[in-house]
Amino acid sequence: MEWIISANHSIYNYNKAFEELPYIDWRQNANYQIGDKLYIYATRPTKAIEFLTEVIAINLNQSEIINDSKYWVNTDEYNKGIRQGKYVRLKLTKKLNANNLTLENLHKHGLIGNIQGPRKLIDDLGSYYPWASYIIETSNRIMQQHEKWTDFVEFAFKKEEFRNSFRKSNTLNRSYYDLFFESKETHLVAKNTSTHKSLEVYINNNISLYDFMLAHLDILSYKINENIDFYSIAESNNLKHRKLIIYYNENSNIPFNQWLFDNALALKKNIKRLEKQYSNKLDFHILTEECAINNSISSLNVFPDNFEYDNELFLAPEKFVKNNIPIYKRDRQKSINAIVHANFQCEIDNMHRTFIRKKSSIPYTEAHHLIPLSYQDYFEYSLDIEENIVSLCSNCHNEIHYGINACKLIEKPYNERKELLRKKNIEITIDKLLSFYGY
Ligand SMILES: [Zn+2]
Ligand SMILES: [Zn+2]
Repeated sequence: MEWIISANHSIYNYNKAFEELPYIDWRQNANYQIGDKLYIYATRPTKAIEFLTEVIAINLNQSEIINDSKYWVNTDEYNKGIRQGKYVRLKLTKKLNANNLTLENLHKHGLIGNIQGPRKLIDDLGSYYPWASYIIETSNRIMQQHEKWTDFVEFAFKKEEFRNSFRKSNTLNRSYYDLFFESKETHLVAKNTSTHKSLEVYINNNISLYDFMLAHLDILSYKINENIDFYSIAESNNLKHRKLIIYYNENSNIPFNQWLFDNALALKKNIKRLEKQYSNKLDFHILTEECAINNSISSLNVFPDNFEYDNELFLAPEKFVKNNIPIYKRDRQKSINAIVHANFQCEIDNMHRTFIRKKSSIPYTEAHHLIPLSYQDYFEYSLDIEENIVSLCSNCHNEIHYGINACKLIEKPYNERKELLRKKNIEITIDKLLSFYGY
């Protein structure tokens, strides 16, 4: 027998209880039998069927029920509840969590009125109501999708290598399965839709990294037999997401789960290798550029007397690509202005030791872009502006690039600059900035 019962989240935290407890004991307010299926409808504000459960015990006394007092939001109801008679034990079969089984959709399928107390899914003559058939079909479909990824998850995460490489996702009832790993900008998604099965590499925001990967498809596809297809998908909020897709061949004699397992592991290794190459190349390029600018400052005889920030906005400078890495043209004058503005002192600590430049008889500090120019892709407005350039003593500058604790040096200039940057239409959180430095 199938039933539908209603639950109120403002009284009891069902989500947490089903997550943490092996079962829930429910007031036995109808003639349930072991093996009955109970659909749980969440009342306002959810107004949808959220759980499918199975009755695993009936006629339980208060002394036998599980202690679930911590899940009661409303203690009055809890106290009222424990004085009641018998209980039924429910085991979660599936959290449905679907947008399909909303009250609105049930009304569309013939349900009249609201859902309260226990209600059978069949009428007196033993046939299903139209809305009941709709509930069963929908939940069966969700269960099938569930099975699809359950097999894969069981197969893959049983093996240590996979467990150590990917984080389990709980999106089991979707047509796609997220395979997260520790990379910040890329992740893998397995897809199993009615039209195709595939494994996709998502690259978030960083178009240059995507281009770099495209330029090195030989490395990306190392140990992967299928062809790698690629195209870009929707752009939203100025952030660009791109993906590379590998399709599973339905005629293949390798089972899909095995195919996913092998290719996900291989792809992860290839991606990490490419990301490392990419960031090494960028770092090398940035250091070379900064060094060139600091050299040219050394040969200058004349500096401006002072420099003040203004309200002018600059769009991102033009990008060109050299050896598959993005390069943005820098304006030497902006770096000079920035170190003049800092009064030729180290902005981490103005007591830091500097020395006098040979030709221009001013203290020697180096210009450093707080938000590295290599991340210009993420911003619509230019990062090559005085507000983003800090003056650092040689030691701090080297530490910020090479030091194990560079994050400690970033916070102070970040706090001093974040408002100034905002005025130039550049918004960034400290976490994001630290991630640009590899934290
Ligand atoms: Zn630097
Ligand atoms: Zn310093």
